[in-house]
Amino acid sequence: MVVVFGFILGLLIGSFLNVVILRLPQNESIVYPASHCPKCKEPLKWWHNIPLLSWIVLRGRCYYCKEPISVQYPLVELTTALLFAIVFYKEDFTLQAFVIAALFSLLLALSIIDLYYKAVPDSLNLLAALLALFSSNDYLQNLQNATIVAGALAMLRFFVSYYVSKKEQLRLNKELKKAPWLKAYYPKFIMIEAMGEGDIIVGFVMGGLLGLKRAILALFLAALIALPASIYNRIYRSDAQLPFIPFLALGAFFSYLFGSTILEWINANSF
Ligand SMILES: [Zn+2]
Repeated sequence: MVVVFGFILGLLIGSFLNVVILRLPQNESIVYPASHCPKCKEPLKWWHNIPLLSWIVLRGRCYYCKEPISVQYPLVELTTALLFAIVFYKEDFTLQAFVIAALFSLLLALSIIDLYYKAVPDSLNLLAALLALFSSNDYLQNLQNATIVAGALAMLRFFVSYYVSKKEQLRLNKELKKAPWLKAYYPKFIMIEAMGEGDIIVGFVMGGLLGLKRAILALFLAALIALPASIYNRIYRSDAQLPFIPFLALGAFFSYLFGSTILEWINANSF
C-alpha cells in the first residue's frame, strides 16, 4: 500500500520536476504560466497533463500541432515514481521517507540539469543541502557528517586542481623550450579548477543523508561508474567536460540501497 502511495506521489513530483528542469535554468517562474506546448504555445488541457498516461495516450505528440514531445518527460516521471516507491518501501510511512525521496528527486533534477548545462542552479542545490540535515532524527550528527564530506571534497578539489594545473604548466614549459618566441602569448600562471562547486554541495548532501561511511562508499561507487564514461570522453570527445553530479547521484542511491550490506560484507571479510 505504502509503495503504491509512494509511486503515485512520485509521479506527481516527477511531473513538477519536469517543469523545474525546463524552466529553472532559464530563470523562468516555475508556477506561471501554466504548462503549454513549447512549439505552438497552446496551453495544455488537464488531460494532457496527467503524468505518464498523457504521453502514452497522446502517443508522444502535442495534441494541437503534433510536434513530438520529448521522451524525457515520461522518463523523469517514471524514474521519480520508482524512486519514491523504493524509498517508501524502505522507510515506510515516515517523515524521513518524504525527506529522503524528495532528496533523491532533487538529485535527479540536478543530474539532468548538469548534463545539459554543465552547471546547476544553487537554489536547487542548497535546498537539497538543507533537506539533507533532516534525513534522520539526529540533526547535529547529520550536519557533522555533511560538513566533513563537503570539506573532504573541497580538499580533494584543491589537490586535483593543483595536479592538473602543474601538469599543464610542465607541458607549456616544454613547448616554450622549443619555441621561446611564443612566451608573450602564454599565460604566466596556470590555474585549472577541477570539479565544480556544485559537486561539493552534493557531497554535503551525501554526508548528511548517508553518514560518513556510506557517503565515502558512494563517492567510490560514483568514481567507479564514471570511469567508463570518462574513458569514452577522453577518446571520442577530448575537450568535453564530464558532468559529475549524475554519477554522484547514482553512487548515492546505490549506497543508500546497498551500502549497509556492502559495508557489513567488507567488515566480515577484512582481517
Ligand atoms: Zn503544440
